[in-house]
Amino acid sequence: ILPQKSIDEVRKDVERWAIEKSDEIALLQKNERFRKEFLMNLAHELRTPIFTVQGYVHTLLDGAIDDPNVNRKFLNNATKGIQRLVQLTDDLNQISKLESGQAQLETSYFVIQDLVKDVYEELMLKAKEKSIEMLIKKGTEAGIYVMADKEKIKQVIVNLVENALKYGNTGCTITTGFYQMDEGRVYIEVSDDGPGIAEQHVPRIFERFYRADRSRSRDVGGTGLGLAIVKHIIEAHGETVTVRSKLGVGSSFGFTLEKGKS
Ligand code: ADP
Repeated sequence: ILPQKSIDEVRKDVERWAIEKSDEIALLQKNERFRKEFLMNLAHELRTPIFTVQGYVHTLLDGAIDDPNVNRKFLNNATKGIQRLVQLTDDLNQISKLESGQAQLETSYFVIQDLVKDVYEELMLKAKEKSIEMLIKKGTEAGIYVMADKEKIKQVIVNLVENALKYGNTGCTITTGFYQMDEGRVYIEVSDDGPGIAEQHVPRIFERFYRADRSRSRDVGGTGLGLAIVKHIIEAHGETVTVRSKLGVGSSFGFTLEKGKS
């Protein structure tokens, strides 16, 4: 036979239970809000390129297909809309894998400077188009081994360097620096002397679909998911990503990684 609880004890139990439940309900409501907001944003993002493609295809079918002055241009514009949709689906696919924890990390040792050099080489054409220089910070060239998922960290660097290229003005410079920290970590920082981000936007730019300047982001082909992907990948490694930015001066995105044995 269990000892009888006093009325006071029972009341405390009920109170504790009510607090637990109300915390759970608040969490569910928050998740539900996020889900609704995500779907609304997604529908909005899909509309623009779909309407673009639909508009050009209709105009072509209405007769523009026979006009040699415009038919090629309209087809090209429709293709751009399709490219945007492909990019968006790729980004969404990646983010949903990361968020559902399906994305397994395949860690290995590699030299982080070499990975950045590979990315620079792949993006060389884009950089040349805008006469943007991509550099390794002086004094930080000596190879440092890290232990991480190489493909995913490559994605992080691509996203950061591509952003600097997309938003950077003609002739600006992108510099990546590498710093060994005490507790067996390495700090990697991708900096640009581009337009910078206004103070009020900085705390939110890692959120899905958040942009400091919506129309500019669309113009340069952004999906609003690049930095959310960066944050997920770095956090999946148990590390952190930070940003410092000043309007008219530039931006620096930094992240830590575990140092590997050399
Ligand atoms: P997007 O696809 O719009 O580039 P991101 O998630 O990669 O989405 O970036 C979010 C927003 O942060 C961008 O829309 C842009 O306003 C801002 N941003 C990111 N990187 C830079 C940068 N290097 N310079 C200026 N603004 C940036």
